[in-house]
Order: sequence, then C-alpha cells, then structure tokens
Amino acid sequence: MIIILRKNSDVASVKKLEAMLSEKGVTANYIKGTTQSIIGLVGDTTRIDESSIIAQDCVDSIRRVQEPYKNANRKFHPDDTIIDISRTKIGGGTLHIIAGPCSVESEEQIIETAIACKEAGATMLRGGAFKPRTSPYAFQGLGGDGIKLLIKARENTGLPIVTEIMSISDIDYFSDIDIIQVGARNMQNFNLLKELGKCSKPILLKRGLANTMEELLMSAEYIMSEGNKNIILCERGIRTFETMTRNTLDISAVPLLKQKSHLPVCVDPSHAAGIVSLIEPLSLASVIAGADALEIEVHCDPKSALSDGGQQLTPDKFKQTMSKIKDLCNYMGKKIG
Ligand code: PEP
Ligand code: MN
Repeated sequence: MIIILRKNSDVASVKKLEAMLSEKGVTANYIKGTTQSIIGLVGDTTRIDESSIIAQDCVDSIRRVQEPYKNANRKFHPDDTIIDISRTKIGGGTLHIIAGPCSVESEEQIIETAIACKEAGATMLRGGAFKPRTSPYAFQGLGGDGIKLLIKARENTGLPIVTEIMSISDIDYFSDIDIIQVGARNMQNFNLLKELGKCSKPILLKRGLANTMEELLMSAEYIMSEGNKNIILCERGIRTFETMTRNTLDISAVPLLKQKSHLPVCVDPSHAAGIVSLIEPLSLASVIAGADALEIEVHCDPKSALSDGGQQLTPDKFKQTMSKIKDLCNYMGKKIG
C-alpha cells in the first residue's frame, strides 16, 4: 500500500500516522520527494482500514498494490484448492455437473428428477428447500421437509446434494448436506458468512447480483478467515442494462477468478440467462473458460414447476446438453466428476 502525503503536511501529523501504522504491524517507509512525499507500507496490509488513514490530515490519497484478501489469494496459495466432497473432489482440473430442480417440490418430483440427472451424467444434485423469492407470496420452499427429501434422493442415486441456506438459525437442517449454497442475495450477509466459516462443510458461494469480483473474493475471505477453507466460487450472472436475458453471464469472471484465487469456480448458466435455449451454449463456453463445475436447473416437468419454470431444462434437453459437454470434455482431455 502506498500513502501519498499532502504537500506541506506538518511533521507532527506524519509522525502520528507512522505510529498508527506501526501499531498495525506494518513497516512504514517514508520517502521524501521534491514535489511529493509518500509512505510505502511493507507487510500484511489486509487489516489496514483505508478510511481511517484517509481521515488523517497529512494524507492526500492511497493506492493499494496488494489485494485486500489473503486466504483466497492465489499469490499466497499457488496450487489449486481441491475440495473433498463425500466420495469425490471438486477443483484441480475435473468438471462437476450439479443438476436438479430450482426447488424441491415433492418426493416424486425430486426423486424422478434426480434419477434423470444421474442417468444423463450429472455428478451432484441440487434443489432448493429454503427459497429466496422476490415475492413473499411466491412458493417459499418446503424447508426442513425439503432437506429430508433431498437426502432420500441422495439415497436413491448416490449423488452428493447441494442446497441453499438462508438463515444461520436453520443450520441444524444442513448437518447431512454435502455442499451448502450461499445464494446471490446473501453473498454479503456477513453474519451468515462468519458462522459458516466456523463449520467445515464445503460452501458454494454465489456472486451477488450487483457485486464485483473483488467483493465476491472478500466474501470468501469472510468464511475463510473463520477457518473454513472449503469454498467454491460461483458466477451466476450480474445485473446489467441488458433486458433480453435475466442477468448477464460474466464469462470473464471464470478465468479472472481462477487467476486471482486458488478456489474452484462454478458457473450457473440457468440463473445467468433465465432462458432454456441459452443454457447449453453458456455451459460449453464456461467449460472452455475453465470452470470447475456447472450448476444447471433441471425439472422433470418444467411447465408445472413452482419456481423458475422458464429456465429449467427437461430431462431430455439436459441429456442433449450433457452429451455436448461430454464431447467437449473429451476433446479437452477433461474428466467429468
Ligand atoms: C438458486 O440457485 O436456487 C438461486 C436462487 O440462485 P441465485 O442465488 O444465484 O439467484
Ligand atoms: Mn432457480
């Protein structure tokens, strides 16, 4: 971090700043220039609060040269993180396909969909039991009963299960879940993130609708700084001025997050596009961009779905998409699962 000092700032104010910095455990190197003086900081600056520095009389501006996240940073952890999930692993060059309905609606629906997903080649099952819905009058999910049905679907198929947590008060329902999802709307629910940091379960952390990649990495940092290093980042589209798609898939997030961080990266083309016909091309693009996992919504009867009917693939369409993904993986020499 470089602190640019105001011209003609008084010595006492600079000394006060230097003392403040050394208390934070960083070394402050004062460099006097002919027109501009600066302080260069050496050490771990992640705990430095920029706003308290900028508030000092002698400070003109600040430039960060190091990212504010450390645990999630590839610079401090050059190798890819590989996360153990039940009998499989995520990260490190393979591709996982997390498929299943937007919401768990009934035993018949989740089991039928799970079997179809497994037959087509999915490696994990998704399904929302606690649903974040824009309208309070829309289907809110089956809650704890939905979790029980997901566990039944896992017993039937052997697929590890992924489902979203909305409140830490529900955590006990998640004790037998393989991956806990933090949805886009909760990406900056810092109390939830901190509590999830205290457990060791893998967390699928989705990017918020209007959040930058750095904010996503800082949310991962919240979880990791409490001890849980098992994070999968998920790009699920962001809000832009475009109205033809539900969101805009930020494909550049995939290689960039992988450059900046060692954590596995998942792409959810379903919530990004919101349109069935775009799921296959966006899935293929994501694999080429380097995704470690795809999360795709599949429903045994999308027309009767209680949420996101317009973006869920039928089992037949998912099978077709999977066959394209398998061809691409063969061509790239990438293993599925
Ligand atoms: C979901 O995956 O069910 C979901 C609600 O997604 P997002 O949080 O990305 O909107
Ligand atoms: Mn959905």
